[in-house]
Amino acid sequence: MATVLDIAKHNPNAATLAVSDAARAAGFIEKKAELNVVAGATPGGASLVGLTRDQLKDSLFAIGVPERELKMRVAQLWHWIYFRGAKEFSEMTNVGKELRAKLAAAYTLARPQVVSEQVSKDGTRKWLIRMASTGPLDKGAEIECVYIPEVDRGTLCVSSQVGCTLTCSFCHTGTQRLVRNLTSAEIVAQLIVARDSIGDWPHATPPEGAFVPNDGSRFVSNIVFMGMGEPLYNIDNVIAAIDVMSDGEGLTLSRRRITVSTSGVVPQMERLGTEANTMLAISLHAVRDELRDELVPINRKYDIKQLLDACRAYPGLSNARRITFEYVMLKGVNDSDADARELVRLLKGIPAKINLIPFNPWPGSKYECSDWERIERFSEIVFRAGYASPVRTPRGRDILAACGQLKSETEKLRARARMMAEQGIGAEGVYALGDGE
Ligand code: SF4
Repeated sequence: MATVLDIAKHNPNAATLAVSDAARAAGFIEKKAELNVVAGATPGGASLVGLTRDQLKDSLFAIGVPERELKMRVAQLWHWIYFRGAKEFSEMTNVGKELRAKLAAAYTLARPQVVSEQVSKDGTRKWLIRMASTGPLDKGAEIECVYIPEVDRGTLCVSSQVGCTLTCSFCHTGTQRLVRNLTSAEIVAQLIVARDSIGDWPHATPPEGAFVPNDGSRFVSNIVFMGMGEPLYNIDNVIAAIDVMSDGEGLTLSRRRITVSTSGVVPQMERLGTEANTMLAISLHAVRDELRDELVPINRKYDIKQLLDACRAYPGLSNARRITFEYVMLKGVNDSDADARELVRLLKGIPAKINLIPFNPWPGSKYECSDWERIERFSEIVFRAGYASPVRTPRGRDILAACGQLKSETEKLRARARMMAEQGIGAEGVYALGDGE
């Protein structure tokens, strides 16, 4: 569910479906996932990084580890992979030599490839990550992942799909072609890549000059599913990934510090609360069905009333576990005083926080960000009604940390690189051109 940090991408090698303006105008709500990929638990070089306990067990069984040893061996691997961040089987000193050799012959601890890393002046980091190929026609799906450090926390924004099944009109990812759901291992791997890059393992150190939380807390202390994709359309993998991320013997992220953001897939909300027990965020953005039908077209399936009823019924909801409502500020569209008052009326009785998000325009978008005075006025009305209504500070604007822009720019550069290579012009020229835009 992308909001501020949504991340766009498509894999040119996969069968895809573009969303044209005409299709949107005709009421196109959803695209279909084109491929279903299963996490690599088979011998033959598949990485064990990101796998669940059951998948690790299957992987060990497949190379002949006796049934009676499986539980103990899984615990050992779990500790090395998820607590210590091991990159080689040879580091696993409490695993016998013979088993280490078998593991190394059949598997790897490879991470997805980091294609590029960008660091903002404000410390925000953004990685373009290429997943392992899933077959002969797949060069590897690329996604982006963003790290937002603050003094007392470090938040990682992860993606759940490559592209998105939905078509929200203010969202750049919504314009992208969908490739596929990410596997649970690919979701977890985003956290592993981030922790590698910022030195967030025992005995590791952050890169020189890196901005990381300085209050002694973990460098990645919070996860938000606000990158590319609608998490509740990939709920099995999202729940499995959350189980791995929150496991107390490995990555140990508190479920209260994991937030899943949905555009409003009402039928899956209760399951998320019951099985994943995470915090919930709703990408609301409008207080009237007519407008929300346009901004967040899934509203035509599940309208505002159904959505808010599902929020009221969200398992574990309390003043200590509020739902975050995200509201992107669009000039002249959803930012009037009347909209603010209606928002307050609608949320009555729901323990809630309201995040006001200044719209970060992307090339070709038809919306503008509300003026600052308007955002303040809106915020004041909401605040006076008793809701926390922080205005989310845009982060990483200098590295295009929003709305799939890095991915789009990267694709533009690649296209230019191809064109210039054909014309015999060097790659440096490409990047100079790109920088200048
Ligand atoms: S659900 Fe809507 S806002 Fe979220 S990534 Fe998909 S199109 Fe964008």
